[in-house]
Amino acid sequence: MTELCCKCQKKLTSNEIGLHKKLVNRGATEYLCMKCLGEHFRVSEEFLKRKIDEFRMQGCTLFL
Ligand SMILES: [Zn+2]
Repeated sequence: MTELCCKCQKKLTSNEIGLHKKLVNRGATEYLCMKCLGEHFRVSEEFLKRKIDEFRMQGCTLFL
């Protein structure tokens, strides 16, 4: 299954999909890539990467 960013059509990683679910909407069916998500929330990609690490360390199953 390949999901594309609903804004820029970039191929998404499972981490990006997980991040979108965590930050935007758990039941989302359309996702944003990290870059577009960063623009949406006005944060850096670096910040989002740290968020993924944080969620992963909390044992969140959405992240690999
Ligand atoms: Zn995008």
